Amino acid sequence: MSSSPIASGPLARRNSRRVVISHGAREIIVGGGAPVMVQSMTNTDTADAIGTAIQIKDLARAGSEVVRLTVNTPEAAAAVPAIREQLDRMGVDVPLVGDFHYNGHTLLTDYPECAQALSKYRINPGNVGKGAKRDTQFAQMIEVACKYDKPVRIGVNWGSLDQALLARIMDENAGRAEPWSAQAVMYEALVTSAIENAQRAEELGMAGDKIILSCKVSGVQDLIAVYRELGRRCNYPLHLGLTEAGMGSKGIVASTAALSVLLQEGIGDTIRISLTPEPGGDRTKEVVVGQEILQTMGLRKFTPMVIACPGCGRTTSTVFQDLADKIQTFLRDQMPVWKGKYPGVEGMNVAVMGCIVNGPGESKHANIGISLPGTGESPAAPVFIDGEKKMTLRGERIAEEFQSVVLEYVQTHYGQA
Ligand code: SF4
Repeated sequence: MSSSPIASGPLARRNSRRVVISHGAREIIVGGGAPVMVQSMTNTDTADAIGTAIQIKDLARAGSEVVRLTVNTPEAAAAVPAIREQLDRMGVDVPLVGDFHYNGHTLLTDYPECAQALSKYRINPGNVGKGAKRDTQFAQMIEVACKYDKPVRIGVNWGSLDQALLARIMDENAGRAEPWSAQAVMYEALVTSAIENAQRAEELGMAGDKIILSCKVSGVQDLIAVYRELGRRCNYPLHLGLTEAGMGSKGIVASTAALSVLLQEGIGDTIRISLTPEPGGDRTKEVVVGQEILQTMGLRKFTPMVIACPGCGRTTSTVFQDLADKIQTFLRDQMPVWKGKYPGVEGMNVAVMGCIVNGPGESKHANIGISLPGTGESPAAPVFIDGEKKMTLRGERIAEEFQSVVLEYVQTHYGQA
């Protein structure tokens, strides 16, 4: 059979080392071809051990495979072991990552139980210290990581770029016959900071397979340019994220635009979506968006997908929007239980369509589909299962009955033998 000239799918994954982030028996693999991992970060006061443990539990339940928390004060460092214990008591084994800036060397040294309770440390080389102290304090953090056998992420951020390194790169640029643009100099400084600090960590005795790199910026094109270069120049696994992505749809769209391009090119081993929550908003949204990026790109499967039409003048009621929303929420809510009980269910597709124009066709492509009646159509909703029309639902309880059909499909098609 000759192959089609129309290619589909991402480019081959970039070759990277394999880093293990573990807590107890739980092991999360980053890089080395492992599935792209989704992580998140808390926004509670870490010193509030109970509040932080609850948010971590929620993030883990939503599917965050690793959760980062800020460790910024002695009180926060003292709370970390209590947070870990509380999570273990609740049966939440998600590995925790400590985010350190300015005083990480002191906190990790003064609070050894915190250093041990964490599964990974994030070190920002721009915030480790200034002048002569910089190298010593960086070394101190690496020594603690080596002592407790913890991996680190060397996480550069252009909002806190190492100013001494930037000055050095600018000096080098001034000596060029044709100096680079300020933007190119910034890119070079970000990439150089990540790679030089990783090399320094290795010189200090850290194994290369304990290091993950990131270079976060807030512009989509900047992020793509920086990570392409970073991916070309090293084989450490890369953590992707658009920093300060913003609120609502802007944050989601910008993150998706940037990460999709890189993931399609095989760049990126773990992701975090840095959404600013609405006041009182749900922190788990960043996990859901991360999962949806990977799932809609066909890179991973997390939860059954609902395919719904946008609606148009043929649907003058909100029945199908309500049904699509109910089914999506139902499926997501069931996943923590279904994940263990019904292996493979995360790959299921459910179509909820608004009228006869595309309804039956789209429903036939899904595992289960329902085509609701548009305006003027007879009040009946045919249901398709694996491409065949199996029944027609009518009346006020279409949503509940369709939910039961979905549940029965899951039980009969994904139940373990
Ligand atoms: S399936 Fe029907 S209701 Fe939905 S967008 Fe298409 S024409 Fe409109």
